[in-house]
Formats: sequence, C-alpha cells, structure tokens
Amino acid sequence: MTTRKLFKENVYLQETEAEILKIKQTESEIALILDQTVFFPEGGGQSSDTGFINDIPLKNLYEEDGDIYHILDKNSLSDTTLLKTNATVKLKLNWKHRFDNMQRHCGEHILSGIFYREYGGVNRGFHMGLDYMTIDISMEENPQFTEITQEMSDRAELLANEVIWQNLPMLTSHFTTKSDAQKVPMRKTLTIEEDITLVGIGSSDNGWGCVACCGTHPSHTGEVGLIKIYKVEKNKGMFRIYFEAGRRCFENMQKDYASLNRLSEKLSAGREDILEKYQAQQLKQKEKSTQLHLLKKAVIDSEAEEILKNPKLDNFGYPIHKYDILTLDDLSQIGNKIASDLDKLAFLIHNPSNTVFLVSNGKIDCGKLVKDNAHIYNGKGGGNKTQSRAIFTKAEYVDIFIELIEKHLC
Ligand SMILES: [Zn+2]
Repeated sequence: MTTRKLFKENVYLQETEAEILKIKQTESEIALILDQTVFFPEGGGQSSDTGFINDIPLKNLYEEDGDIYHILDKNSLSDTTLLKTNATVKLKLNWKHRFDNMQRHCGEHILSGIFYREYGGVNRGFHMGLDYMTIDISMEENPQFTEITQEMSDRAELLANEVIWQNLPMLTSHFTTKSDAQKVPMRKTLTIEEDITLVGIGSSDNGWGCVACCGTHPSHTGEVGLIKIYKVEKNKGMFRIYFEAGRRCFENMQKDYASLNRLSEKLSAGREDILEKYQAQQLKQKEKSTQLHLLKKAVIDSEAEEILKNPKLDNFGYPIHKYDILTLDDLSQIGNKIASDLDKLAFLIHNPSNTVFLVSNGKIDCGKLVKDNAHIYNGKGGGNKTQSRAIFTKAEYVDIFIELIEKHLC
C-alpha cells in the first residue's frame, strides 16, 4: 500500500478527493491512510503541511513505509461515522503555509548554490526557524577562503537575488538508483541509496544548483520573491548564515523599515545618519554622566561633612537628615563616609521610598535594630553593624519606627 503523492506531480494542487484505505485509532487520535494526498509530510528541513480533511483540521502528518498517515484529533470530530474504509474525503491544503515553506526552502537552495558556485562553500546544515533560517557553510572545498567577509556575503546575497529575477525553472528529476543519479553534476555528495529526487536550478547540468531533496519547491525561482542575509557568524569551524526568503522576508523588512523610520524620527536624523546621530548622542550622554558623577560625589562629601559638623537633631538628640533627590545608593555612600566618626546613631531618610538608613560607629548594632524592630511596622530590610536600612510601605511608619528605636535605646 503506497499513498500517491500528488504534491510530487503538481505542487500547486490545493484540493482533491481521496479514498480512505485504512484507519488506525488510538484513544485520542485517528490516523487515515488515503489512496492519494496533497499533503507533504515533514522532510528536507521543511515542516509538514497543514490543512483540512472534510473540514476537520489535520493535527499531524507523517510517512512510514510509503504510506502517509493523516492524524486527526478525536476531540475535533463531531461525527466519526463518516470516516470509514472506502469512504471518500475532501482534502484542503493550507496554501499560505505551504507556499511559505516553498519560498523559504527554494530560497535556501538558491543561496546555498551561490555560496558553492562563488566560494566553494558546502552547505552542511539547514534549519528553518520561526524568525529566520540558517545554513552552515563549510569552506572545506576551497581553503583559500578562511572566512566569509561582509563583502562576500553582500555579493552572495545580490547574486542570489539575481537568480530570483532571472526567474529560472526549478527542475525536478527522479532516479531509482544511486549510480544513475550520480551521473548528474551536483553540489553535495549523495547519501541516499535509492528513490532519489534531484532538484536543480535553471538547467540540469549546472552542478552548483543541483542537490538531492525531497521537499516542495515552486516551479520558478521568481516565486521566491526576495532573499536577505541577516548576518554571518563563525560556528564550529564553519560559517552560519542567518537569512530569510519569500513573504516572511518581505514582512520582516516591512517591520524593520518601520522601526528604522521610528528611530530616525526619534533621533531627528535621516536614515543615512542614524548611526552618526546615535554615536553623537551617546558621547553627550557619557559627558553628562561623568558630570553627574562628579556633582554627586561633591554633594555626598559635603552632606557627610554637614552631618558631622552641623547635624540636624530630633527631639531625642539624634542626627536625622531627610532626602528627596538623592538615591538610595547615594545615602548608603553618605552613611559609609560618616559611620566611623559618629558618636551616636544617625538616621538618613530617603523620602520617595520610605526608607530609613541607620548608621553608627558599630557600637550600636544597626543591623540588629532593623532585624528586631522593622517587622513590627511591616518593614523589610537588613544590614550590618555600622549601616542598615528598613523600607516601609507608608511614610508615617518611618517616623514611628524611629521613635521606637530611640525609646528602645534610652
Ligand atoms: Zn529542496
């Protein structure tokens, strides 16, 4: 029993009727083996087709011993009685998904072919991801190229797009034996022994464009539409090319252009000067940060001096200083500067976050005071002997907490 693979005869066929030859059932799934199908099962780096059988969504698809198993989820069937041996079913392919696969897959053929033709690079790995595709190019056949430079990559990209613009035919030929297939020049050594499909770009004798492949391809390169290389990276002694082709490539470029336009508006720059403008802004930013750092340092030093020389004392006679603009880190730095010169506990309050810093010369254990008392007012925090902090949900808790500590110390 072998399912007739209509996608091999006419890759553009989207709908057909088929007869159920065999049904296999598990608890949750039904597998249909049909006399013919428009659905391509996973292969050659290309994902399985999707679609419908009698308006029931296809859950999965796989090939085993020449039979293609069409898997349906029992939960999506309202009436299983229509599905019986010898019954006729209607197949409907999800063409958008298939054509996406065809464009991307063919794009990979073209780009791999160009890398082989121009630089002797052999494709040793192919991955079709959701956001991009990758090919791993090995330069083993042409050791004169020790790397793929930006210039080489740009050139390959242009030549690949030229192959698209030339709208060359994609030629498929079948061979029953390896020895027959090997007579055709191709860019990669054959690893299959029998039932071999060769796919070539333009003509059957151009070795750079020919390779064994079981996937689905458009009839002409023009249908690929577009190829864009995103980047090239060294990977395990080879070169990994990140790229995209077809509708996805176009949609990504639309998004990229929209981002670029927004960025150029934000920077008030033309697309050509974005990088220059960005670098100028970065430089300005760096100058500002250096200036801010120096100013902060001066403020922290002068605050520390002020607390030690002219402390603001509360009712119990403890230094207490409140801050609105400085950060928690700044307050911690002030604490570090004054700790050893303090003769009693000091409080630094960060108003925006209801945080109080306890600072001492270590004779009074600041960490312990916070650990023992902050939780009484739902505060959190901790620290060491000379500096600790407690954070509260309300400003009033900060005042009550300080009062409690001071009473406790009296
Ligand atoms: Zn292919």
